[in-house]
Amino acid sequence: MSYHIKHHLTDDLLMGYSAGALPEAFNLVIATHISLCDECRARLGSFDALGGAVVDTVAPAPMSPGALSATLAMIAAHDNEIPPQTAPQTSSIFPAPLQAYVAGDLDDVAWRKVGGGVSQMLLNTSKDATVRLLKIPAGVAVPDHGHHGTELTLVLQGAFVDEHDRFAQGDIEIATKDTHHTPVAEEGMDCICLAATDAPLQFTGIIPRIAQRFTGI
Ligand code: ZN
Ligand code: ZN
Repeated sequence: MSYHIKHHLTDDLLMGYSAGALPEAFNLVIATHISLCDECRARLGSFDALGGAVVDTVAPAPMSPGALSATLAMIAAHDNEIPPQTAPQTSSIFPAPLQAYVAGDLDDVAWRKVGGGVSQMLLNTSKDATVRLLKIPAGVAVPDHGHHGTELTLVLQGAFVDEHDRFAQGDIEIATKDTHHTPVAEEGMDCICLAATDAPLQFTGIIPRIAQRFTGI
């Protein structure tokens, strides 16, 4: 499967991923993008090498009290890591890292309607952030919204456009507190995305805000 990816991960996200410092929900989106993107996989390789080199050049020093527990805490933090496997692709639209979280293929997803024709399925990860599959029917808009924190959206099928750009299969959109947008799925094919947030989205319209209370989007 080859993609013409235009929108990539930032250095900050790749470094955070390499260091095992990000929530599991973000790791899943990043690992899935990396499994599709040669460019980000190569950049990750250089961050991993850099991290290893830093460890190698630190001179041995006497252990300070608490060093052992600090080290154990660092190792525990790495339990969040999801390797960017590049196992043989099946015909599934779900790349290898995602398959452990979604049992089966697109037809097996237990979609829940969240209003406006949009459906989602929350995936099970640690509670510091959330990640969901989103299905936006062709031509349909997700209500205009801002963000309390960071939102990573990876396109798995189809494409969407918003006020900022166009995002197609393999592209990742990084929205922050300053981003306000109304993503609209392109005509022709339902848009399937994998989206992680570290805070609930903030919808601007009154009706979506009420809906938000019920759907938790
Ligand atoms: Zn990339
Ligand atoms: Zn958004």
